[in-house]
Amino acid sequence: MSPHLLILGGTTEASALAQAVAEAGIKAIFSYAGRVAKPKDQPIPQRVGGFGGVEGLTGFLRAKGITHVVDATHPFAAGMSWNAYHACAALDLPLLALTRPAWRATREDSWTHVADIASAVEALKGEPKRVMLALGRMHVAQFAAQPQHHYVLRLVDAPDVAPKLPHHSVVVSRGPFDVAGDIALFKDHSVDVVVCKNAGGIGAEAKIFAARKLGLPIIMIDRPDLPRRAEVATSAEVLAWIDPTG
Ligand code: NAP
Repeated sequence: MSPHLLILGGTTEASALAQAVAEAGIKAIFSYAGRVAKPKDQPIPQRVGGFGGVEGLTGFLRAKGITHVVDATHPFAAGMSWNAYHACAALDLPLLALTRPAWRATREDSWTHVADIASAVEALKGEPKRVMLALGRMHVAQFAAQPQHHYVLRLVDAPDVAPKLPHHSVVVSRGPFDVAGDIALFKDHSVDVVVCKNAGGIGAEAKIFAARKLGLPIIMIDRPDLPRRAEVATSAEVLAWIDPTG
């Protein structure tokens, strides 16, 4: 049976894989959660929206005759990763994660490690500061618990409803970002501290270099628990996994 791949996407790495798969002529579907208004067009068929939990995903995999699943979601999209793990186990389908190593602090960095968003909010207790929230739009409301700060929000889409933070600025921009641009952004907004997730990879790494260059501290949210599955770091390894003789 010729392979039919499902790529769970939403990352720079997933898009690179879609390109490699298209060039290799492998049949594949790219799946977006539908969090942004206009997701990047892919060179393979794409679908948008949740599957409806493990059961919904299992039904989708069966209905489409999927033979291989690549979980190329963001490392913080743990719900999707666990669903993929359980659905593939139920159907005995091969599952591979396309992941990227977490970022690591160097001696020049000043990171405070926290376990989750709630702990990041807690770590911001104290004097008013100008805080770069590089977290997307989903968790912004939680920071209202520390209303003394001015928050700089970088979002893919302009928000429909104004964020419920007394002092904030919104910067609408879609990655990947570059270091010079992030240095300029942090300087323009007089940022004192950066809050971000340890996403790893290259698409969002510029802010780490920019903070290092400017001597800014980072409140770094560590990765959530993910299922144990086979993992690779490059598109070439995914292609070799699909067709070991290729
Ligand atoms: P999540 O909490 O793991 O997912 C929640 C639900 O959204 C899943 O149960 C699933 O719904 C749906 N979903 C997630 N990814 C999907 C995909 N690729 N295709 C179809 N449905 C998907 O994920 P999240 O943190 O909300 O992230 C959503 C998407 O944004 C992911 O695809 C991720 O790669 C991307 N992203 C996330 C972050 C982040 O910081 N979390 C950053 C950048 C990009 P059903 O249960 O209904 O199937």
